[in-house]
Amino acid sequence: MLQVLETIAATRAAIGQCRSQGTIGFVPTMGALHAGHASLIQHARRECSGAVVVSIFVNPLQFDRPDDLERYPRSLDVDVDLCRRHGVDIVFAPTVNEMYPRPMEMGVDVGRLADHLCGRYRPGHFKGVATVVLKLLGVVQADMAYFGEKDAQQLAVVRRLVTDFNVPVRIVGVPTVREPDGLALSSRNLRLSAEERTLAPRLYAALQRAAASIEEGAANATEIARDAATLIPADERLRLEYLELVDPEDFQPVTRITGPVVAAGALWVGNTRLIDNVRCTPPGRSA
Ligand code: AMP
Repeated sequence: MLQVLETIAATRAAIGQCRSQGTIGFVPTMGALHAGHASLIQHARRECSGAVVVSIFVNPLQFDRPDDLERYPRSLDVDVDLCRRHGVDIVFAPTVNEMYPRPMEMGVDVGRLADHLCGRYRPGHFKGVATVVLKLLGVVQADMAYFGEKDAQQLAVVRRLVTDFNVPVRIVGVPTVREPDGLALSSRNLRLSAEERTLAPRLYAALQRAAASIEEGAANATEIARDAATLIPADERLRLEYLELVDPEDFQPVTRITGPVVAAGALWVGNTRLIDNVRCTPPGRSA
C-alpha cells in the first residue's frame, strides 16, 4: 500500500518500519512526473529489495527566477497515481514550511563544479540543489538514490556531494528518456506551445551533431560547438544560452578533445528554458 506523507517525522517512521525488509531506494523529484521519472522509479524498483521512496518537492532554494518557481507545473494527485502504478511504497511530499521551517543559515558551497553551464547562468542553483539533496538524503537514509543523466551537471554535483560529505548512499545515474523525435522528457515541456514543441528537438539535434563530429575525429572544441550551434534555426523564439564541451568528471570546459566529453546545451524556447546533454567519445576510445 502506497503511503503519501507530508512530514519528516512520519516519513522517517514509515521508512524505519521497512528497513529490515531490504535495501531502500530513493528517487528525488520536483513532481509533474513523466516517463523519465518513471524510468528512475523502475530502476529503483528492480535494484532495491525493500521500499522505494519518491520525494515530490518543488524546492524554492534552487530557483533563480521567481516566475519560474511560480509557473513550475504541480500535479500531486496524478503523480501519486504514477507512483502507485510503478510500485512505489512511500511518497514524501513535504510543504515548503516542513523543509524550511526557518530560513537556512547553512548551505552547500558547490565550488568549481558550478562554475560553468547551468551553474554560470543560474546563480545559486546548484547550491540550492546540493542543499536540498543533502537534507532529503538525511530524511530518507536510502541505500541507493537515483538521478537522471538528463541533468548531467546535477548528477556530477550529487556524486561529489556524497563523496565529500561521506553520505552513506550509492548514487545511480539513469539514461535520459526521450520523445520519439529526440526531445528529452522534462516537466517544463508542458509549458511549450504546439509551435514551440516543434522547435524544441533542435537542441538534441545540435548536441548529436557535436557528438558525430567528435566521433569522426574533430578535436577543436570551439569549432565543434560553433558548427553544432548552426543546427539551431534563426528564429525569434529560440535563444541558445550555451552549447559547450566539458570534462565528464569536473565539468570544466575542454579546448582540445583527447578523451570522452559531455556536449551540454541550454536553449530558450519562448519563455521556457530546456537543457540536454550527450556524451561524446573520440575515435579509438571506448565510451
Ligand atoms: P526533476 O523533477 O526535474 O527535478 O527531476 C527529478 C529527477 O528525474 C532528476 O534526477 C532528473 O535528472 C530526472 N529526470 C528528469 N527528466 C528525465 C529524463 N527525460 N530522463 C531521465 N531522467 C530524467
